[in-house]
Amino acid sequence: MKNPVAKAWGCVGIMMIGVALFMTSMAFINDETLMYLFIFLGVAVVISGVVLHYKTVRCPHCGSHLGRLYGPRCPFCGEDYKKID
Ligand SMILES: [Zn+2]
Repeated sequence: MKNPVAKAWGCVGIMMIGVALFMTSMAFINDETLMYLFIFLGVAVVISGVVLHYKTVRCPHCGSHLGRLYGPRCPFCGEDYKKID
């Protein structure tokens, strides 16, 4: 199992791609179809990143969603979430 920090960054990466797609929509200000396509794609990708984060970034000890990963320990059970035994 991959460590939750790596997964969290992977999901943040997906969210960034979504934001980039959303920004790209501004380039198509003269083409409504393309503009809405990119807005829709961007929002969909950001939402998938958030959902994936919520589903995969979990403490291996208690299963809680780790959120923004403050500190080296799970805020719920106090175990080191990088240490998987
Ligand atoms: Zn925990």
